[in-house]
Amino acid sequence: MKLAFAMACSSRDMNRLASSAIKDPTPGHEMSNRYPSSYYAASTNPAPRREELTADIETDICIVGAGYTGLSTALSLLEKGFRVVVLEAAKVGFGASGRNGGQIVNSYSRDIDVIERSVPPAQAALLGHMAFEGGRIIRERVKRYDIQCDLKDGGVFAALTHRQLEHLKAQKALWERYGNTQLELLDRTAIRNVVDTDAYVGGLLDMSGGHIHPLNLALGEAAVVERLGGQIFEDSAVLDIQRGPSPIARTAKGSVKARFMVVAGNAYLGNLVPELAAKSMPCGTQVIATEPLDEALARSLLPQDYCVEDCNYLLDYYRLSGDRRLIYGGGVVYGARDPADIEAIIRPKMLKTFPQLKDIKIDFAWTGNFLMTLSRLPQVGRIGDNIYYSQGCSGHGVTFTHLAGRILAEALHGQTDRFDAFAKLPHYPFPGGQRFQAPLSALGAWYYSLRDKLGV
Ligand SMILES: Cc1cc2nc3c(=O)[nH]c(=O)nc-3n(C[C@H](O)[C@H](O)[C@H](O)COP(=O)(O)OP(=O)(O)OC[C@H]3O[C@@H](n4cnc5c(N)ncnc54)[C@H](O)[C@@H]3O)c2cc1C
Repeated sequence: MKLAFAMACSSRDMNRLASSAIKDPTPGHEMSNRYPSSYYAASTNPAPRREELTADIETDICIVGAGYTGLSTALSLLEKGFRVVVLEAAKVGFGASGRNGGQIVNSYSRDIDVIERSVPPAQAALLGHMAFEGGRIIRERVKRYDIQCDLKDGGVFAALTHRQLEHLKAQKALWERYGNTQLELLDRTAIRNVVDTDAYVGGLLDMSGGHIHPLNLALGEAAVVERLGGQIFEDSAVLDIQRGPSPIARTAKGSVKARFMVVAGNAYLGNLVPELAAKSMPCGTQVIATEPLDEALARSLLPQDYCVEDCNYLLDYYRLSGDRRLIYGGGVVYGARDPADIEAIIRPKMLKTFPQLKDIKIDFAWTGNFLMTLSRLPQVGRIGDNIYYSQGCSGHGVTFTHLAGRILAEALHGQTDRFDAFAKLPHYPFPGGQRFQAPLSALGAWYYSLRDKLGV
């Protein structure tokens, strides 16, 4: 029943992403040392300019990518005493981690009931009990390291139909079985008290969910990585990984030789590791931020300041920022084109939920890529003896990426049971290969979206 930001991107996007190591999908923004324009980029905490790698160096673990997966892995490894170097093609949090909806959503893009049906009971139990750990890791780190990222508690799954509400009842029972005791079902009246819209028939409140300023979380984590002795190089795209007993990551001006590599490039990795590209698909989703709302209006929309996502297959998600903007996401772009006008796609969705915002200006609109897998479950594993990876959260990655960092570090430290529970999940190639995976997935998404519209 888990609800993914499940979307497909065009085959032209795919070709473009595959044809070079990394490109920013924002129209007019090629990969550079800048962030693409977004509310987050315009409201970052001060951060140092990090150097490009210009030497040949050695370390214990080299991590490719400074999004949440890479940073969380680095942090967990440093806490265990490893030497760590992170290589980032652009800037810390340049990818999905610095652009997302900021929603701390528990579990995985397919929920534990799907996992229970497809793997042995002991493996399912282990995976189920990890489903709420990512959110705890975020909170622990924010508190321990005093990361300023506007962390707020409380996330709502909002049902548009009675069928969706029935699913949420089952989800509550399922999550309670795995230890989440912070859930509350909301009927039509109760949800009206947390979201000022007539759109919903009810919902499920998860007080262990919540929201953050995603880029400031990534920047805060990067600062901790450096405080603990790790090195992060920006503008340092890995162009090649030379495999062998001590793999070497080469950039334009330097290299890192390590005992182990961790590949954490997710939807921006391109074809650097062909085995990973073959079994995943980058997809786009779009977000807008309104102008700051006056306090009374902001409070009326979301009185408890919870974040909300609806229960459609192609879902809308929104929340208030620290300076009271409504951050609203949910776009899907199919066909061979980039979203030329993101506001034109997302604003009507926002007005459908909140018609009272018709005179409110949109200050920012941006797009980002997440990585979809065919099963919509994340792919965690190892290539050969010494190249580890985690990718493909299929839309719900803020919590999972933090868990992934911890279990990758455990595995590199020799404790593999939790890593193995993920690594044993089957990884399927997309049917149709790179050429047809996007149109076939778009067709599948269209089918589920139609079911949502018909309420069946
Ligand atoms: C617009 C949007 C909204 C979303 N909203 C939510 C949400 O509200 N809640 C939620 O749970 N999830 C959400 N997600 C998904 C979530 O953001 C991602 O799952 C998560 O951030 C992925 O983190 P990551 O570190 O694996 O990848 P990324 O954050 O994409 O980081 C990968 C990094 O690797 C770097 N890189 C790639 N290749 C190389 C290379 N060759 N050399 C060096 N560096 C390289 C990239 O530059 C990038 O910085 C959203 C995603 C998007 C795009």
